[in-house]
Amino acid sequence: MSIRVTCRGCGTEVDSSECDRQVRCGACQVKASIAVELAEYRRLWAKRTRYLRAGASIAGCDRQLGRLAKRIAGKVHQRLLNARQAAEVLNEELSRARQRADTADGRILVPRQGQEVIGSGARA
Ligand SMILES: [Zn+2]
Repeated sequence: MSIRVTCRGCGTEVDSSECDRQVRCGACQVKASIAVELAEYRRLWAKRTRYLRAGASIAGCDRQLGRLAKRIAGKVHQRLLNARQAAEVLNEELSRARQRADTADGRILVPRQGQEVIGSGARA
């Protein structure tokens, strides 16, 4: 018999069989497993935004972002066998990473003319 427990990550009530030892639901386990890649994605997206504003080519950034997104997608699909749920989690996490890059990170990292950004991304 299974019991219902509250996920410590998102607070959703889930089946205990779905949780790991830290009482995290499947989706939260996936999110934890891609945290490093997502931080990198956010950093790259902030860089892409800076390049875009500066009128520089973003082709290189887009290629890197594409590769990274593929790697993240691979991890998500490996852990979440429900393809629809996997796609939802993936889209949600990627769009949140982009949003955060465009608000917090993006604003802080916009260099003034003649100024170089030093240590950008060091916090992540
Ligand atoms: Zn959860």
